[in-house]
Amino acid sequence: MSLSGKARLAGVVGWPVGHSLSPRLHAYWLKHYGIDGAYVPLPVRREDLAMVLGGLHRAGFAGVNVTIPHKEAAFALSQRLDDAAQAAGAVNLLLFRDGVWEGRNTDAAGLAASLRAAHINLAGGRATLLGAGGAARASLLALDMLGAGEIHITNRNAGRAAQLCALMAPYIKAKLHVAENFEQAAAHSALLVNATSLGMQGQPDLNLSLEALPNSAAICDLVYTPLETSLLRQGRARGHQVVDGLGMLLHQAAPSFAAFYGVEPEVTPELRQWLLEVLQV
Ligand code: NAP
Repeated sequence: MSLSGKARLAGVVGWPVGHSLSPRLHAYWLKHYGIDGAYVPLPVRREDLAMVLGGLHRAGFAGVNVTIPHKEAAFALSQRLDDAAQAAGAVNLLLFRDGVWEGRNTDAAGLAASLRAAHINLAGGRATLLGAGGAARASLLALDMLGAGEIHITNRNAGRAAQLCALMAPYIKAKLHVAENFEQAAAHSALLVNATSLGMQGQPDLNLSLEALPNSAAICDLVYTPLETSLLRQGRARGHQVVDGLGMLLHQAAPSFAAFYGVEPEVTPELRQWLLEVLQV
């Protein structure tokens, strides 16, 4: 649709940003809801971030999504933070509101919404989390939102997992444990989440034996390139319910769209298909 002089403007800042699916995703919703607005990719170098954000604010942008490598810098530049950004230590949504830079984080809520859409409710049960980076941090918050009673974390670098537990404990009701090994963590788990980059295109595969995981456990992989990772393929073959990483990507975008354009968008199978057309699956 064509834009008027009053179009609402937003975009995504990152470096590089050419791989981002966000412009395609938001363009779908803008068209679907007939909104007078635009969402543009904004390749911004680290050293230019503050200056570019200042310019976008002055040019009347409603805000921007923030992706790698700027999430921590956007956190530091925010004048106000929501609880999720505070807990995540990172901002993926920056709004220019009433002259104030307001940092939010929608990753944890996005993963929680994706798991809820798959009817996963932990209800005091155990979850196992692989990884201790930024995605693992968001995953801890999401698992807590879903009511996990205990979360067992394994990571190549166990010291980093222990640091993550110490950092996140104040924000999490669930009991956090650093597991000695995957088998110990997986036993009695209702959900396994991969928040490492293993299994992603160009990365080594995640080689795990799922023997210790109860048959009733679900498996979620945050990696979405490829969409069906070897972990999900192996899990499906063993009869586990599996949830791919595209759901998180779609659901984390919805609150951004609502904040930019004032419409709560729906995550639909058609939207998923629209993105699958450009994902090399
Ligand atoms: P990160 O901060 O760099 O963390 C990477 C994690 O992977 C660390 O736990 C690291 O372990 C582990 N790892 C990397 N290489 C490994 C190897 N060779 N062997 C064992 N462990 C290894 O990355 P991130 O931002 O958390 O992202 C992790 C993944 O989540 C990425 O694939 C990303 O695409 C995906 N993600 C998906 C979504 C979504 O919307 N679906 C959102 C965010 C992220 P060490 O600590 O030992 O280095």
